[in-house]
Amino acid sequence: MQLTLWTYEGPPHVGAMRVATAMRGVHYLLHAPQGDTYADLLFTMIERLPRRPPVTYTTFQARDLGADTAGLFQQAARDAYARFQPQALLVGASCTAELIQDDPGGLAQALDLPVPVIPLELPAYQRKENYGASETFYQLVRALARRPAEGAPRRGCNLLGPTALGFRHRDDVQEITGLLLQLGIAVNVVAPLEASPADLARLGEAAFNVVLYPEVAQQAAGWLQRQFGQPFTRTIPIGAKATQAFVAEVAALAGVPVPPALQARASRAPWYSQSVDATYLTGKRVFIFGDATHAVAAARVAAEELGFAVVGLGTYSREFARDVREAAAHHGVAPLITDDYLEVEAAVAALQPDLVLGTQMERHIAKRLGIPCAVISAPVHVQDFPARHSPQMGYEGANVLFDTWVHPLMMGLEEHLLGMFRGDFEFHEDAPASHLGHASASMAVPEPEPQPDLPEDLPTMAATWAPEAERELHRVPFFVRGKARRNTERFAVERGVMTITVETLYEAKAHFSR
Ligand code: SF4
Repeated sequence: MQLTLWTYEGPPHVGAMRVATAMRGVHYLLHAPQGDTYADLLFTMIERLPRRPPVTYTTFQARDLGADTAGLFQQAARDAYARFQPQALLVGASCTAELIQDDPGGLAQALDLPVPVIPLELPAYQRKENYGASETFYQLVRALARRPAEGAPRRGCNLLGPTALGFRHRDDVQEITGLLLQLGIAVNVVAPLEASPADLARLGEAAFNVVLYPEVAQQAAGWLQRQFGQPFTRTIPIGAKATQAFVAEVAALAGVPVPPALQARASRAPWYSQSVDATYLTGKRVFIFGDATHAVAAARVAAEELGFAVVGLGTYSREFARDVREAAAHHGVAPLITDDYLEVEAAVAALQPDLVLGTQMERHIAKRLGIPCAVISAPVHVQDFPARHSPQMGYEGANVLFDTWVHPLMMGLEEHLLGMFRGDFEFHEDAPASHLGHASASMAVPEPEPQPDLPEDLPTMAATWAPEAERELHRVPFFVRGKARRNTERFAVERGVMTITVETLYEAKAHFSR
């Protein structure tokens, strides 16, 4: 096992906890030593869930290792069943408990509990959290989904993949459910989020499956397709274009027409990005890293919908590395497949992008390097569970992407303005508001900041503006243009520059922004 300060994914039993915690009526019995109960905090502190995960730890101690840890596990299983009365019991071992080879599955089966017992064999030293979530969901579906009766009508679709601790999963489900309802497609079961074992039993009643997060649900969807003949969607509806393609895909699977209201552009993002000053979007160099699904989608949206240039693309998700390699080839960049955040940091530092789209790790990296950043993928932190509705998917999701990716770039303008205004006699914290008219006249106006004396041997004539610099000056918002003109002329005179070019203007801007 690699010891590190930060990891993109936890051990696989954390993935199993994400599935169990998302569901209702499921309990997870985890053979684990005392300290491993730390994982509870991910859910209560980061996701701010108002309840503990439905997990019982056997919490064996060092002194138990010489005694009967298997008996301890069986007693914990009996107690957990008696106390929580789940409809299904998941059993497995954490990394440390895997080493004592107690066979939790066999031990729990031997108890003959009156509910399905689903053993999870998650190789903690080879695989990670997303694998754990995918395998757990797959084992639950295999154990609980009932084969539909021959010839029984199939209705609507299932939404598969949302879990606890997922990046905006709750909001995506709401958004995509609304979209499907506009198409007249009913949602049969959403799983694992909020599903009970009884709901999983009904999965086969749907006509098809919508896979929202392939990292979690593709394996189960593949099984449902093979066993029950349910096709599943391939388009991930992140971005306005992909949402349109998703609408077409689900309409075709359901055999329904797309209503005109949905055919029309239903997101503000395309118009917003066309109307934003090109300075903030076109050709901005963006570095993208995350789980494979969100990273690939972000690269597509960045390049095709916002006009950014993708300069780096990578994932920590080895199971889906192929998708990222293909996307990187499409964008003409080398893929970065790693779970070492120091490698990611080195890549960001070398590329010096204008914007980083990544996980919480990249947020820290970008902050340290002074680069604007937006989070697009798990692993997440407490601020990625906002109180407001904030999806990534669907048309509203496209609006959210526009807001969260473009605004960090615009902060540059605000900082620039603050720099230009700093010390200006009209714009300081004691200046009265202009709309107060006469009332403002009585308020104190501070002395203008003393200007440093120019050296005597500097030319006293004002510098002249080259036509292209004058044109560039007119791109500066009118309310700061006068200040920008004065500062630039002063900068030019101080340096003996007689003709102000576009370069002089930007050098002055950099100088006064410092
Ligand atoms: S041994 Fe595994 S479960 Fe225990 S703290 Fe380390 S990663 Fe977590």
